[in-house]
Amino acid sequence: MEGSGRPSSELLADALGALSATLRHYRGLGLAELPFEGEWLQGPAEVLATQERDLQGCRRCRLCDGRTTVVFGSGNPQADLIVIGEGPGADEDAQGKPFVGRAGQLLTRMLESVHLSRDQVYITNAVKCRPPGNRNPEADELAACAPFLAAQLGVIRPRVVLALGSVASQALLRTKEPIGRLRGRVHAYGSAVLIPTSHPAFLLRSPEQDYKRMAWEDLKLAKREYDQRRG
Ligand code: URA
Repeated sequence: MEGSGRPSSELLADALGALSATLRHYRGLGLAELPFEGEWLQGPAEVLATQERDLQGCRRCRLCDGRTTVVFGSGNPQADLIVIGEGPGADEDAQGKPFVGRAGQLLTRMLESVHLSRDQVYITNAVKCRPPGNRNPEADELAACAPFLAAQLGVIRPRVVLALGSVASQALLRTKEPIGRLRGRVHAYGSAVLIPTSHPAFLLRSPEQDYKRMAWEDLKLAKREYDQRRG
């Protein structure tokens, strides 16, 4: 404390004395533990659980009207790779977990093809509530949910982001470039890298082998980045 004229060692001793007096005071009141609360004392799993709890009942965009569940995300809270889809479908809305329907089963196989399990990675969506009839989420809905995705990313701090489909890829990279031009490349994404690829639902609808081959190339690229960035 500048200007008090007292040496800092004395000021520190005073502060510690005051703290111990305060703690004795609380002990005298019968408190055995002080309820320290706040994200700064929690690990990633607890912070994500708090974020998920805080999102329940969210009414920040019109998607709340048709949803059953806020589908927050699942997987490893300290994953080095995060998979980001578009938004929950009917199965996800019913079960409260991302990518549990047919597209999810294909995603599981895609990850396994590069030796990654769902438990190793974290899986979430650009919007956390199901768009009615599985339409694409609209720009204002993506914008309303963006802070929650950013908060998740802030906790997980992945090294690699695998963005599924044009909606997630364009929203995350803030571009309107088509997925066909975005994919196949590594994009800078803060301290991570982002690799766009086809959405598994699109791959299920498209019989062309070319799309599957390109998705396979993207997955191998993502895995290479993952291995390199983990050292
Ligand atoms: N499609 C998505 O984009 N996300 C899901 O969770 C399921 C299907």
